[in-house]
Amino acid sequence: MTIKNNPSEIIRKDQQFVWHPYSSLTDPIPAYEVVSAEGVYLQLADGKRLIDGMSSWWCAIHGYNHPELNAAAKDQIDRMSHVMFGGITHAPAVSLCEKLVDITPQGLNKVFLSDSGSVSVEVAIKMAFQYWISQGQPEKNKLLSLKGGYHGDTFAAMSVTDPVNGMHHIFDQVLPQHYFAPKPEIGFNQEWNNTDIAEFKAILEANHQQIAAVILEPIVQGAGGMHFYSPEYLRQVRALCTQHNVLLIADEIATGFGRTGKLFACEWAGICPDIMCLGKSLTGGYMTLAATLCNDEVSRGICEGEAGCFMHGPTFMGNPLACSVANASIDLLLSQDWHANIDRIESVLQQHIQDFSDLDTVAETRVLGAIGVIEMKDPVNLAEIQRQFVEQGVWVRPFGKLIYVMPPFVITNAELETLMKRIYRVLSK
Ligand SMILES: *Cc1c(COP(=O)(O)O)cnc(C)c1O
Repeated sequence: MTIKNNPSEIIRKDQQFVWHPYSSLTDPIPAYEVVSAEGVYLQLADGKRLIDGMSSWWCAIHGYNHPELNAAAKDQIDRMSHVMFGGITHAPAVSLCEKLVDITPQGLNKVFLSDSGSVSVEVAIKMAFQYWISQGQPEKNKLLSLKGGYHGDTFAAMSVTDPVNGMHHIFDQVLPQHYFAPKPEIGFNQEWNNTDIAEFKAILEANHQQIAAVILEPIVQGAGGMHFYSPEYLRQVRALCTQHNVLLIADEIATGFGRTGKLFACEWAGICPDIMCLGKSLTGGYMTLAATLCNDEVSRGICEGEAGCFMHGPTFMGNPLACSVANASIDLLLSQDWHANIDRIESVLQQHIQDFSDLDTVAETRVLGAIGVIEMKDPVNLAEIQRQFVEQGVWVRPFGKLIYVMPPFVITNAELETLMKRIYRVLSK
């Protein structure tokens, strides 16, 4: 039985059968039916057209329905959609892995492809643990992460996500316990002071013999609070990890591919992690794919151990369709002056976000690269504010006190101005 073009029926059955992200099925917030998308626009079933301020959760950097990405998908689907990766290889995966090694910070030389961001975090954590087991130090089985962080929804990823946002208390009996350092307080452009990292340093100094790896989001803590912290913090984390023989995992799933104004946010601090996770915009938002990169020390260390190999291998590893679109997306990004483009978006965001600071309801605004954040004094009513945004013709999905935009990189100045003005209209009411 299929449902054909009956919007109200789709919404009704959606509420009857379908979970949405972080949603209730007993008290559902209505979802909006999208029938197509093009450039920066989402087309709703009821005829409304919305400017997308979210890039479908950081992913659709080139906008929707892009001819070059479409062509890559169509070309690949006529050859093969998928073939197993155990014992078999193919050009789309090999060329993607070579490209990722090429463009990520120097030293990350090996690539493990997987299905989604959370899985790439599981893979990164498993790499770190298996590395130390192989080195004869299985007691290094704890992780150190930062409060205010977000690393995904699977169990290992959840265990290093902010304990309050991740509601660790309700999962107390099932989550592994790790170390958390305070959220870095000093902002991206603020003057550095060593007190900001003092507690992180103390935890690492006291417990490094049990700690396999530090895991963090470089520069931008995304879903945990849209917070931009000082590059000096990241530089010192790198130095402390090296000093105490602890691996550093950089989760660039949200920040990778230009979003912050650098191709990878680690570049703001000029550092290279031992392990890096990529996802989200890897395929330009076309389909799910993620990658975990590591350096030669980690790959060699793992393979020297008892298992002789890394103990992981997803069914859809290296999916050719996803790899082909990822190749096309990265080529498209690098073929343009993407850096100047992000600067352009940043300056338009900066011009318009200042107006919001004058509203009584707004606590703070901040911009970095193609990310604009309006932090309210109080949490917003999601269903109500989303309805008002849709009425104004924009797609923005706040969480908690945070109203933020991270538009597709193809957004024009005029579209971005319209987006910001419409958000202002809702917030100033
Ligand atoms: C979104 C995100 C993840 C999880 O990725 P999924 O594809 O949703 O599993 C992990 N880490 C960061 C920093 C993210 O932004």
